[in-house]
Amino acid sequence: MTLLVEAQHICVQYNDHIAVNDVTLSINKGEIVTLIGPNGAGKTTLVRAILGLTPVSSGLLTKKPALSIGYMPQKLQIDSTLPVTVNRFLALASRHSSNINNALKMVGIEHLGQKPIQAISGGELQRVLLARAVLRQPELLVLDEPAQGVDITGQTELYALIKQIRDQLGCGVLMISHDLHLVMAATDNVICLNQHICCSGHPETVSNDPAYQELFGQTGA
Ligand code: ATP
Repeated sequence: MTLLVEAQHICVQYNDHIAVNDVTLSINKGEIVTLIGPNGAGKTTLVRAILGLTPVSSGLLTKKPALSIGYMPQKLQIDSTLPVTVNRFLALASRHSSNINNALKMVGIEHLGQKPIQAISGGELQRVLLARAVLRQPELLVLDEPAQGVDITGQTELYALIKQIRDQLGCGVLMISHDLHLVMAATDNVICLNQHICCSGHPETVSNDPAYQELFGQTGA
């Protein structure tokens, strides 16, 4: 088992507001870890701290040396006046067209390369962002709400695709989701976060945990 990231007792504070409180977690190669929690629970903050984009106030963060990371941020602002094709958009992240072709194929949208990015659907856009994250075949994929703006069927397909990519690349995955039941089949471990970790473990175990049920109600998120 190769350890990619280990966070020990991480806290992140914005002025006097504690966004992430005493979080300990690890992500191994080949493992999909899903962070789940209500709005404002600190999920994005924790992910950004792990990426080194937001400073931790205390705790210890250890990463595998020279760890390569592909990041899919939560929201993409596209300038709707710029006629950029999907290929051109991805070329901003990699000059190698073979990387772009492979990534488009990996996420099942090789037919969209020449399409203006403004003309594609919400679900297709999420796949373009996923393609950008896998361009360099990273050891760790970090996906902030990859299914945002996608209909339920599309979400299930997207999570199945993420699992397929994990199998293909053998990478670790840390992702954020709002819906435990939709990610159930696509995740190895779930961490239920509400500033601190309320419960964690196998998805079935978490769904039955009183702390999860208290946070989301008996029927889930
Ligand atoms: P969501 O599901 O709505 O995306 P989240 O679980 O990802 O929420 P965060 O975005 O990490 O939560 O926010 C956690 C808390 O930290 C919130 O109270 C938020 O208002 C606050 N926060 C986030 N970013 C900043 C910032 N840059 N400065 C100050 N406070 C922030």
